[in-house]
Amino acid sequence: MQKKVCPICESDKNSKLVYDKKLPEDLENPNFAGRKDPDGYHYQMLRCENCTLLYASEIYDEEYSNQLYNESSFDYSSELEGLTKSYSKTLKEGIKFLENSKENFLEIGCGNGFMLQEALRLGFKNVKGIEPSKDAISFADNEIKNFIQHGIFDENQIENEKYDLVFIAMIIEHVVDSNKFLESIYKVLKPGGIVICVCHNERHFLAKIFKEKHPIINDEHVAVFNEKALNLIFKKNKFLDVKVRNLKNYYSLSYWLKMMPIPIIIKNLLNKTIMLIFKKLIIGFKAGNQYLIAKKN
Ligand SMILES: [Zn+2]
Repeated sequence: MQKKVCPICESDKNSKLVYDKKLPEDLENPNFAGRKDPDGYHYQMLRCENCTLLYASEIYDEEYSNQLYNESSFDYSSELEGLTKSYSKTLKEGIKFLENSKENFLEIGCGNGFMLQEALRLGFKNVKGIEPSKDAISFADNEIKNFIQHGIFDENQIENEKYDLVFIAMIIEHVVDSNKFLESIYKVLKPGGIVICVCHNERHFLAKIFKEKHPIINDEHVAVFNEKALNLIFKKNKFLDVKVRNLKNYYSLSYWLKMMPIPIIIKNLLNKTIMLIFKKLIIGFKAGNQYLIAKKN
């Protein structure tokens, strides 16, 4: 395990315990898959009273986490229609702020590349995705697979000042060193380039009600940002014109039910009755995600 401090003020002096550690005994099988069934595991979480950020005080070693992401499964192929609809809105908005042409698009943590397809559809000439899960890449359409690089984002593998737009969704919570990560994104952006970051909003009213039962408090989240903390970490890393807004998420009704912190017995009952008719219905809801758009000077 490695210790962490608040990445914004780089100290734990004003941090207070919010959630005690709850991790699996069996270190052989933690599940780091995106959008998995909530398992209730999480690191010990502190809140920095200066920056309002909720962060893990001690996390798995980076090499071990990377191995878990590498082996993680891709379980949300049935949700891609709703996800594309949710994220596409943020991409269209980010494009409006581009000073340059829509030439090069990079997504870090691209899953099966569904947003690479969307970026091409919206007029980007070249797209590239980086994804640690081999399983996720295996679900990519053939015409997009060649644009996906397997592995963890490493700026050294990319020439500086190359991309017009960098897109990250549900990634910043997982990053071991958020300053190093944002510094690297800054380097690979062209001047005037845009970053879009979709992430959880830890101070959304549902997160406040459900506390650690909310699926955003789970084992692989190193830090969970709210609007203020997200603003602070991007400004700290030299980004300008930072805007943070609430995101409406589109998911099937069965996905919303899966994520709801209610007893399994009720979920099963609903799945056997009313959900047989409505499970594929796609519903949009501002359930606690936010997105940031910011610019490199
Ligand atoms: Zn702090």
